[in-house]
Amino acid sequence: MGFIDSRKRWEPSMVLVTGGSGLVGRAIQHVINEEGGGKDGEEWIFLSSKDADLMNKEETQAVFQKHKPTHVIHLAAMVGGLFKNMRVNLDFWRNNIYINDNVLQAAHEVDAVKVVSCLSTCIFPDKTTYPIDETMIHNGPPHASNFGYSYAKRMIDVHNRAYFEQYGRSYTSVIPTNVFGPHDNFNIEDGHVLPGLIHKAYRAQKEGKPLVVWGSGTPRRQFIYSLDLARLVLWVVRDYNEVEPIILSVGEEEEVSIKEAAEAVVRALDFKEEVVYDTDKSDGQFKKTASNAKLMRYLPNFAFTPFEKALKETCDWFVANYDNARK
Ligand code: NAP
Ligand code: GDP
Repeated sequence: MGFIDSRKRWEPSMVLVTGGSGLVGRAIQHVINEEGGGKDGEEWIFLSSKDADLMNKEETQAVFQKHKPTHVIHLAAMVGGLFKNMRVNLDFWRNNIYINDNVLQAAHEVDAVKVVSCLSTCIFPDKTTYPIDETMIHNGPPHASNFGYSYAKRMIDVHNRAYFEQYGRSYTSVIPTNVFGPHDNFNIEDGHVLPGLIHKAYRAQKEGKPLVVWGSGTPRRQFIYSLDLARLVLWVVRDYNEVEPIILSVGEEEEVSIKEAAEAVVRALDFKEEVVYDTDKSDGQFKKTASNAKLMRYLPNFAFTPFEKALKETCDWFVANYDNARK
């Protein structure tokens, strides 16, 4: 199963991006509007929750009827870092299940030929072998800290397979690792580790206090720059024709510890105070090392932005946009 009938692979003409106001959505806007990433004949619509609450079926149907997309990039989701996930697993499960069911069915009803939805490497089984690959999504329970989000995201893959089997739909998914970049959610309690550390270091520097890294610093993560992810998602929407997901990640050798990530934030912000570790806080999943071998078979020459450069650009953006950044 999996490859789409070539007659159904027509060019995008109306691309609707759900979650177009978020971290990844703003990166796609940047690539389309500032890097000439759009193509002749393509119209791009970027939705935020102000255009439609996608947890609401009628509002979702209405916004899809209004734009009648040929292609959909489905990014909208309830998203958060480890500590928000641990607090409200039920909300992550329910909200994302509603959003995904509404979006995929509304796309089908307006005859959208392709939908690219976003999963995440944190949805893979906790007890696994490494590196993780695309075939392993359903092989065992996810880490307990974010099981609501993880099971809801896994169900997108079930949706996609069923839309293909029943209707021949080209609905697929991408699996990014931890994403970071301009327009991230820099809220310290709710956000992911890099925006959290950037915000905490910025504040600690002003107050002459230590930067408090949560947990032991030993867990390991692969980070992808939102602009690299955006460029890859554009390739997926135009040229990737499998129903099965594809991992969008830097290589396994690019994985860093949280301690190394914190040290990189210290360098990028030229932070001068002490760095301490609060080991009373959770470490979450130790690692989720993913293989990008499938991506590299398709795009062997794709050049990822070096981590330090991308982090510096993100920190510079945060400092320059401090007043208006999400925090
Ligand atoms: P984000 O910055 O938190 O943005 C979330 C987007 O979803 C926003 O545009 C938000 O609209 C929209 N949204 C949320 N609830 C909605 C609702 N009920 N109705 C309509 N729109 C709603 O998220 P992100 O980091 O860009 O994530 C994008 C996708 O990548 C998600 O599917 C996420 O699961 C996945 N992903 C993210 C990461 C990561 O590290 N960030 C890693 C792997 C996968 P408003 O702006 O109006 O609130
Ligand atoms: P995850 O990759 O899905 O687990 O989510 P996060 O992006 O929230 O990363 C969590 C990892 O970073 C855990 O090992 C945390 O202990 C560690 N960490 C260290 N400092 C922070 C912080 O300020 N915020 C967050 N969210 N995590 C932190």
